[in-house]
Amino acid sequence: MSERVKGVVVIGAGVVGLTTAIRIQEHGGYHVTIVAETVPGDTKSIRYTSPWAGAHHVSAAFGDLKLKQLDKETFDIMWEMSKAGSETEGLFLRVHQTDYYEVQPSQDVPFEWMPNFQLLRTDLIEGTVLAASFATITIDTPVYLPYLLARFLAKGGSVIRSSLQHISQVLEGALTASKPDALVVCAGIGARFLGGVEDKDVHPIRGQTVLIRAPWVKFGRTLNGKGEVTYIIPRRSGDVILGGTRDVDDWYPKPRPETKIEILKRSIALAPELAPPGIKNPTYEDLIPLVIEDGCGLRPGRKGGIRLERETVSGIPVIHNYGHGGYGYQSSWGSAFVALKLLDGAW
Ligand SMILES: Cc1cc2nc3c(=O)[nH]c(=O)nc-3n(C[C@H](O)[C@H](O)[C@H](O)COP(=O)(O)OP(=O)(O)OC[C@H]3O[C@@H](n4cnc5c(N)ncnc54)[C@H](O)[C@@H]3O)c2cc1C
Repeated sequence: MSERVKGVVVIGAGVVGLTTAIRIQEHGGYHVTIVAETVPGDTKSIRYTSPWAGAHHVSAAFGDLKLKQLDKETFDIMWEMSKAGSETEGLFLRVHQTDYYEVQPSQDVPFEWMPNFQLLRTDLIEGTVLAASFATITIDTPVYLPYLLARFLAKGGSVIRSSLQHISQVLEGALTASKPDALVVCAGIGARFLGGVEDKDVHPIRGQTVLIRAPWVKFGRTLNGKGEVTYIIPRRSGDVILGGTRDVDDWYPKPRPETKIEILKRSIALAPELAPPGIKNPTYEDLIPLVIEDGCGLRPGRKGGIRLERETVSGIPVIHNYGHGGYGYQSSWGSAFVALKLLDGAW
């Protein structure tokens, strides 16, 4: 006799919750229900980080071998998904990425496994001591998140919109036909407040960005400066995200006007090619007519990194997968796979 299909609830419909739900669902043997306050397609909000991301795959796993593995597994999947002719090619843009450093990193750069990787010590931009170049992908987040949701729903997944106060509301079966067999928490920054989790190691790392329309830009570039990081992330749609800031413990929910100008100034200094073709010696003012949106999101930082753990609450396995900081997209498939292993290990 075949085993009973187990009911799993995933809290969260950000990139982490959706990817985790898909991994579990596509493994087989589980019916997955997502419970979330916000889902793809909602108006952007400071309570929902994923729609604010760049997003590119540029590993931040300096010296962190576990994170590097998650990033690598995710890259392999996304690289395959972005292959010319594949059904999902349109969600990504393959780009030539160059990361510059004003200070020599204390650890080796975590890109040696990326296609066409090269370390550059000459022909650098002024004030930098090192650069790494490689091929990578950028993720067109406004289409990627709805794609994940559609893939999940098409395979029979359910979504319940609810703002939970405590995980017991799920564990006691208040939202589903019966008590779930397992719960997976992918609540992002919400893990700090969600009753039954209330992880005070989770904190905001605020990131402000400017979205411009510049379809002529097809390269990725980052300047890791002494103080701030400036990045240029072109999307397949022709929109380009310019950033950024990394404001630790800053909950301010709106873009600051002075920061917008500062980002535009840093961006044009790093990449004069952002200005419409034909403009000589462009300044930040040449970018202003291209601006679509300025925004900010709260990266779910966590002291100790991503929480990937299983515990038992009221006799039910609870798997945690949150705290992805500034790398939730690029580690999403890898961390979802670990969450699935933790779930499978519960029986
Ligand atoms: C400016 C910026 C640039 C970034 N760039 C990149 C990048 O280039 N590459 C990259 O990999 N990452 C990037 N990130 C980081 C990335 O966006 C995050 O790591 C990722 O979005 C976190 O996803 P998540 O699913 O954990 O959280 P979220 O997207 O916030 O989703 C959390 C989900 O949990 C739900 N939830 C929370 N609490 C409750 C509750 N009590 N009841 C019900 N539902 C609840 C929410 O409604 C939501 O559905 C960037 C972030 C920012 C802000």
